[in-house]
Amino acid sequence: MSRKAKTSGGGKLPSERPSKLCAACGRPFSWRKKWERDWEQVRYCSDRCRAVGKGKAGA
Ligand SMILES: [Zn+2]
Repeated sequence: MSRKAKTSGGGKLPSERPSKLCAACGRPFSWRKKWERDWEQVRYCSDRCRAVGKGKAGA
């Protein structure tokens, strides 16, 4: 086993990933693997924020 300095593991750099602002908490969040299919429809950074965002309309 030799210790070699690895250059980036072949994935995208975090800084190259797209990001959005959460519609509920207003904070920026980054692309995640689980959103790769419907990133364009993602509006909230988490399930919790999604619940908050939906809850607003119902009251
Ligand atoms: Zn949020």
